[in-house]
Amino acid sequence: SNRAIATPTKTREILKKYGFSFKKSLGQNFLVDVNILKNIIEHAGIDKKAGAIEIGPGIGALTEQLAIHAKDVVAFEIDQRLLPILDDTLGEYGNVSIINEDILKADVQQVIEEKFQPGQPVHVVANLPYYITTPILMKLLMARLPISSLTVMIQKEVADRMAASPNSKSYGSLSIAVQYYTEARVVMNVPKTVFQPQPNVDSAVLHLQMRKEPPVQVEDEDFFFDVTKATFGQRRKTLMNNLARHFKGTYEKEELRERLDDIGIDPKRRGESLSMEEFARLANRLYSK
Ligand code: SAM
Repeated sequence: SNRAIATPTKTREILKKYGFSFKKSLGQNFLVDVNILKNIIEHAGIDKKAGAIEIGPGIGALTEQLAIHAKDVVAFEIDQRLLPILDDTLGEYGNVSIINEDILKADVQQVIEEKFQPGQPVHVVANLPYYITTPILMKLLMARLPISSLTVMIQKEVADRMAASPNSKSYGSLSIAVQYYTEARVVMNVPKTVFQPQPNVDSAVLHLQMRKEPPVQVEDEDFFFDVTKATFGQRRKTLMNNLARHFKGTYEKEELRERLDDIGIDPKRRGESLSMEEFARLANRLYSK
C-alpha cells in the first residue's frame, strides 16, 4: 500500500521528522522495498494464527508487515532512539510489543511464554544486524526455543555457509552447527539497493526450519562440535593431519588410524567431504578413550 513504511520516500520522511542518524556500529540498514518484505513473510510461513518475533525493528518496516500478516508480534530493539519513532509508525497496530533489549542478553524463552499462547506456532523473522548475525542465530538455536522457524536476512556469504552441503566451498563447521538444529535453505538473494543506507556486502534470506530432533545421535554435543571444528582447522590438510594436531597428547596417530578404520572413514579424506552423519560417527568413536 502507499502507506507502507518500507518505501524510500516514507523512510526518508520518518528519519527527517525525528532527526535520526544511522549508527553503523548497530548494523542499521533499513529495508525500503515492500515486495521483498512480503516475500520474506511468505517464506516464513506466517499466517493470522502465528506469533512473530523480530530482532531489530528499526523504524518498523518489517514489523508493520508482520503486524498485518501475523496474529501478534514481539520485537527486540537495542537502540532507545527508535522507541518514540516506533510508537509513531506502528501506533495503529494493537498487536505489536517492542522490547528495548539487546537480543543477546534477552530471556527469549520467558518472553515467548509471556507473549504467546501455549501451542501457538512462533516464527522468528528479521533483517538482522550483520555485525552479530552468527551469535544471534546460534544463541536462538542452542536455547532450543519453542519456535517453528527462523527466516532472516543476513550477509549472503554467511547464508551460503549456513546452508552449505559437503564438498562445497562454503561447507564448514558453521554448516554443521546450524544444520544440527535446522533444515537450512537460502530462499532469496537480495541486492544492496533495497537498503538505506546500502550495506557493503550482498544479502540473502535464509530460511531455517527447526528440527524436532537432531538428525544424528551424538554422545556429547560439545565434543561433536569440537571435533567438527578441528576437522576443518586447516582446510587443505587431511582429516588425519587435523585430528592428529587437535588430539595431540590424547591420541597417537596410530590410535586415530585404527578408530577411523573402525568406522570406515579414510584418514586421507578432507573434512569438507564428511557428512554430518560421518562427523557424528567420528565424534562418537573418539569420545571415550
Ligand atoms: N528491521 C528493520 C528493517 O528491516 O528495516 C531494521 C533492520 S537493521 C539491519 C538492524 C536493526 O537491529 C537496527 O534497528 C538495530 O538498531 C537493531 N539492533 C542492532 N543490534 C541489536 C541487538 N543486539 N539487539 C536488538 N536489536 C539490535
